[in-house]
Amino acid sequence: MSGIWVWLEQFQGKIPSVAWETLGVARRLADAQGTAVTAVLMGDGIAALAEEAIAMGADEVRVMEHAALADFRLEPYLAAFVPHIREGAPQAVLLPSTARGRELAGGLAAELGTAALVDVIEVSVEDQRITAVRPIYEGKLFARTYVERTPAILTVRGRAFPRPDPDPNRKGEIRSVAVALDPSAFPTQVLEWIQEAEGEISLNEARIVVGGGRGVGSPEGFEPLRELARALGAALGATRAVVDAGWIPYKYQVGQTGKTISPDLYIACGVSGAIQHLSGLRGVKVIVAINKDPEAPIFKVARYGVVDDLFKIVPALTAELRRRGLARG
Ligand SMILES: Cc1cc2nc3c(=O)[nH]c(=O)nc-3n(C[C@H](O)[C@H](O)[C@H](O)COP(=O)(O)OP(=O)(O)OC[C@H]3O[C@@H](n4cnc5c(N)ncnc54)[C@H](O)[C@@H]3O)c2cc1C
Repeated sequence: MSGIWVWLEQFQGKIPSVAWETLGVARRLADAQGTAVTAVLMGDGIAALAEEAIAMGADEVRVMEHAALADFRLEPYLAAFVPHIREGAPQAVLLPSTARGRELAGGLAAELGTAALVDVIEVSVEDQRITAVRPIYEGKLFARTYVERTPAILTVRGRAFPRPDPDPNRKGEIRSVAVALDPSAFPTQVLEWIQEAEGEISLNEARIVVGGGRGVGSPEGFEPLRELARALGAALGATRAVVDAGWIPYKYQVGQTGKTISPDLYIACGVSGAIQHLSGLRGVKVIVAINKDPEAPIFKVARYGVVDDLFKIVPALTAELRRRGLARG
């Protein structure tokens, strides 16, 4: 049993920031134990990414390429990955806490008869054991946990750890691993990817999020928030109330039944601060609330609050950013 493995998620040849952050966590764990980091790249036509993985901290990269791995699907990814984990017997397998990473983590834990700790925000080595802190009960409590069996499967929350700086002089080994898969053996097929709007910043990776709630009043009411988000280089977020009302698509929803976000700054506009919304904000460093109602619960968690009409304050903020030459777009 040795080494820390990382599943280096890629989508259409691009590796998301959270996957690099996960590699950074693996590097730290491996250094603490004097062992090596193996990054696993799966897909089709993705071998060129391996050099980047070495520069970002991997000692070895295993590249698994096959037409059946071109699009992420749980069944072929498990079929390709599990035998290699059995053979390599790593101490832990780390994955980014994305939708795909979580799905794969659950499948790996089930196949390997071990356990997955999802959404970890702290990791350390205590008594030779990898110990992780993760939120439970919608983030009301934090549990320090370890997995008794090996490998421990961990998914790493985005923006909870720093992204490593690349070192182009790092040396490592790149291994192409033969994958034997029968494409007709898998019950699912990806027909198309529904592309997010071009240039839009992903909620999971954003440093700033502008969130809108029922206070925006209508689908058009999001326009000043979009303007502010553009000026700040921020992502747009929303409450479930406005998603349920059909004012904005589900992919923007933040909270218990939406996304968990960890930006440095969250600007909540016309958001009351319901517990289910707040549970998606546990990793936010600074919350600014704009709400007409001074009693709104959001003010209990906000560092800064503005009690006023969002339609007055939000455009004024955007205008001020532009006036000071700080607006991005
Ligand atoms: C099982 C379950 C899961 C849920 N999951 C989620 C989830 O994932 N995410 C989520 O967000 N919710 C979730 N909810 C819903 C949650 O309980 C709340 O209903 C929802 O978050 C409220 O959204 P809101 O703040 O937009 O609306 P409201 O609670 O109606 O608040 C609107 C706010 O806007 C303010 N306002 C109005 N006009 C203006 C103005 N012009 N300027 C400034 N302020 C103004 C009001 O004072 C008010 O505080 C869930 C609920 C359940 C039961």
